[in-house]
Amino acid sequence: MKNRQFKLFQCCVPVKGIKNGVVIDFQRNTMHKVSNQIIDLLEEYSSKDIYDLFNDFKTSKTILKKHMRYFIENELVIMSDDVDCYSLLENDFFWPEIVDTISIEIENLNTDFKEFLEIQINELGVKSLKLILRKDEIRNFVKISTLLKKSKIRCVVLYLEYSIEIVKEFQPFVIDDPRVSQVVFYNFNGDLNLEDCDGKFCFEKSPLEIIFDNKTIESVDDFVLNLNIYNEALQRNLMFNRSVYIDSLGNVKKHREDVEMYGNIVSIDLVEIVKNKDFKLFWEITKDQIEVCKDCEFRYICPDGRIPFKTNSKDHYYKYKTRCKYDPYQGNWDI
Ligand code: SF4
Repeated sequence: MKNRQFKLFQCCVPVKGIKNGVVIDFQRNTMHKVSNQIIDLLEEYSSKDIYDLFNDFKTSKTILKKHMRYFIENELVIMSDDVDCYSLLENDFFWPEIVDTISIEIENLNTDFKEFLEIQINELGVKSLKLILRKDEIRNFVKISTLLKKSKIRCVVLYLEYSIEIVKEFQPFVIDDPRVSQVVFYNFNGDLNLEDCDGKFCFEKSPLEIIFDNKTIESVDDFVLNLNIYNEALQRNLMFNRSVYIDSLGNVKKHREDVEMYGNIVSIDLVEIVKNKDFKLFWEITKDQIEVCKDCEFRYICPDGRIPFKTNSKDHYYKYKTRCKYDPYQGNWDI
């Protein structure tokens, strides 16, 4: 191997967990399992001559060569006479929108809700809506679709209690609606011929409480290998940052299970409500502050949807009520 300086490409980010580490290549959307010791060496010897590394670890030359070959073959490292001309990655994260995602429960689509959906959410720059339709589902959905016609909303996810009639009713309305990305039917108990359903339809046996607030990671396929997401996860909670929950009476909460109500959209602008410091604090709960996740090598690419709760512990501030299927201490998944 020719002597040159080396360092990881700027789009390749190393993350150490308690047992394993990974190098995430955000350009190719790939992830490479690497030991923490190798990550330490990559960081310590970054921008130095590769011969320095081999000289300092003469007894481990063979294993180091093997790793270096792997990094070069997978284009994870730059080998150059002057690696400093390759700049470092900026970890800046800025989104102009105050609120990005709104989850809203609709029973009675009265004038206040209509005004909110048609005007306020646009002014706030909201991009995603999660609609829980409790009553008059199809009528309310059609009205909401009309209200959103000129909006900036890019993605709508519908949550409906399963019945075969509702599935059949919704099929023609959502099939060609590009904004509706998913229709989730909870409390599914049928023997539906799923081939007859649109690909946007998702059937869950669990109740709404489980699928809405406790959506966990199932496998590596759930991770999001995106540099903006990574940068956001360094400073914010990926699932809850810039998101609010509005109940069927218009009360604004941090999330569906929140016992606090911070105001009502009928009487106060949402932009004023989210100025409350509780929102800011909640949005800023990174995985580094959550038990178990803080030790996981996937913590900056994990869109796990569970609600973090405060612990009494002095060392760690938050925890989840349920277990994740990945165990970072063993480095394996529940089967
Ligand atoms: S332990 Fe936490 S960060 Fe790791 S996969 Fe599970 S939820 Fe995600």
